[in-house]
Amino acid sequence: MILGALEAGGTKMVCAIGNERGQVQERISIPTVSPEKTMPEMIAFFRERQIEALGIGCFGPINPVKGTKTYGYITSTPKLAWQNYYIVGVFEKALGCPVGFDTDVNAYMLGEITFGAARGLDSCIYVTIGTGVGVGVYVNGGLLHGMMHPEAGHMLLQRHPADAYGGKCPFHGNCLEGLAAGPAIEERWGAKGIDLAQRREVWELEAFYIAQACVNYTLVYAPRKIILGGGVMHQEQLFPMIRQQYRKLMAGYVNTPELENLESYIVPCSLKDNQGIMGCLQLAVEAQNF
Ligand code: ADP
Ligand code: ZN
Repeated sequence: MILGALEAGGTKMVCAIGNERGQVQERISIPTVSPEKTMPEMIAFFRERQIEALGIGCFGPINPVKGTKTYGYITSTPKLAWQNYYIVGVFEKALGCPVGFDTDVNAYMLGEITFGAARGLDSCIYVTIGTGVGVGVYVNGGLLHGMMHPEAGHMLLQRHPADAYGGKCPFHGNCLEGLAAGPAIEERWGAKGIDLAQRREVWELEAFYIAQACVNYTLVYAPRKIILGGGVMHQEQLFPMIRQQYRKLMAGYVNTPELENLESYIVPCSLKDNQGIMGCLQLAVEAQNF
C-alpha cells in the first residue's frame, strides 16, 4: 500500500511516503509559508507518487471532530495565513483519496501505540515538551476527542513556593506550558535549557511541574503508560527526578501494577523522532476504514 504522511508544523511540512507497517521510503521537508505557496508543492509531491490515502498530523488548534461544521480545518492558529483553512478538504479534492486528520501530538501518540513503546496498550498519554506543551490522549482503544482535541498542555498547576516566575502563557499564569516549556525555562533562568544542563535546581523545578501534570493525567485518564518527548526531555536526568516527584505527589493513592515500576510507566519516546511520521501513516490507514 502506498501511503502519504504529512507532519504539518509551524515552521516546516514534512511529507513522506510509506506503508501500513510504518516503513518510510521517502521524505522531504518544505518550509511552512502560506497555503497559496506551500499547498501546491505538497500536493505535487503526493500526486506524483499516487498515494492511496493521506494522514495528517497538524499543528493547531484544529478541528479533528468528524461530523462537525469545521471538521478538517486549522482553526484559531496564531499562524495567520493558515487561520480557518480547510486543509483536509483541499487535499481530498486535489488527491481524490481518503485523508486522516488529527493533531501533531495525537499522531505521535498513534505512532507509539501502533509501532512503539505503547504497542498494543488500550490507553496511553504522550506529552511533548518543547516550544509549547502538547498532549496526545489514547483511551478505550482510540485517540480522544470531545468537543475538540484535549489541550492538556495548559493544565493548571500548583506553583512551587520558591518560583517567582510569572509564566510564559498569555492566557494562564500557572499552566504547564507557561511554567515548563522551553521558552519558560529560558526566560526564568536567562539561558537556554541546553546550556543549563549542569544546574540541578533548574531540572528539580522542571520535574516538579511535569510530575504534577503526570499525576493529574493518571488521575483523569488512567493511562497504562505516559510517554514524554520533545526538546526539553533531551535532558535525560529529568526522568528519575520526575518519577521521584510523581511518587511523592501521588502519595500511594493509586496502586496499580503499572505504577509499581515507574521506570516502565513514565518513559521516553521510542521511535527516534519518527513517531510523528509513523503515526501519520497509521492515520492514513485508519482513514481508509471510514
Ligand atoms: P518544537 O517544540 O518547536 O517542535 P522542540 O521539541 O525541539 O521543537 O522544542 C524546542 C524547545 O526545546 C526550545 O525551547 C529549546 O530551548 C528546548 N530544547 C531543545 N533541545 C533541548 C535540550 N537538549 N535541552 C533542553 N532544552 C532543549
Ligand atoms: Zn496556558
